Amino acid sequence: MIVGGNWKCNLTRAKALELAEQLNELDTTDVEVVVAPVALHVPLVQAKLKRAVSLAAQNCGFAGNGAYTGEVSAEQLVALEVPWVIIGHSERRTHFREDDDLLAAKLDDALKAGLRVIFCVGESHAERAAGQTVEVCVRQLAGVLRLPRFTPARVVLAYEPVWAIGTGLVATPAQAQQTHAALRAHVARERSAEVAARLRIQYGGSVSAANCAELAALPDVDGFLVGGASLRAAEFATIVRSCA
Ligand code: PEP
Repeated sequence: MIVGGNWKCNLTRAKALELAEQLNELDTTDVEVVVAPVALHVPLVQAKLKRAVSLAAQNCGFAGNGAYTGEVSAEQLVALEVPWVIIGHSERRTHFREDDDLLAAKLDDALKAGLRVIFCVGESHAERAAGQTVEVCVRQLAGVLRLPRFTPARVVLAYEPVWAIGTGLVATPAQAQQTHAALRAHVARERSAEVAARLRIQYGGSVSAANCAELAALPDVDGFLVGGASLRAAEFATIVRSCA
């Protein structure tokens, strides 16, 4: 099981360091834990964290170093010894217009540089209402599953229904299990049964101390990507322990 904490564009330097200090108390036995501060805070948090919690960037460029104002490249993250990056978060897709082709290019560049990636997919409320959940996720995965560098050792999928992110509306266990199982079956068809079985699929979207236990118990849920609750150390600890 793997639990990610996506801090998004939150926290001051002091608050990020305080949270990192609290994370050093986490019991990470049997659970991989990764947290993603804003890029500016990554080296500060890295210096504060002990080994039990890994670091992720929340984004990276698509084409290495060069004339890409405002970007941070995958190779720069690797040089800083940042092991993970989140790619394809719905906030990047929506606010920054990142499309499936760009995201597949980012994923390929990140894997080429040696990063491990949490790759996010998920449908909007209207798409779920129209019965298109799996179709949308499959479309978001099309370029990704074609990449020769895509392996379960290097990529974790995060199923994050857009309507559940930051809204307090969490997928029901049945909705989460159905979608995770459908995505795993799709990966089995496109790649192999072995890749699908080894692939870890996180659920993300309003995960909290109150709902994590029943979601963590689902057979195809292999951890969580947590936004809001990852900013509260005690609640994040409860979520991590639900995956142990
Ligand atoms: C996220 O940002 O990936 C997320 C799932 O946010 P939240 O837990 O706040 O819904």
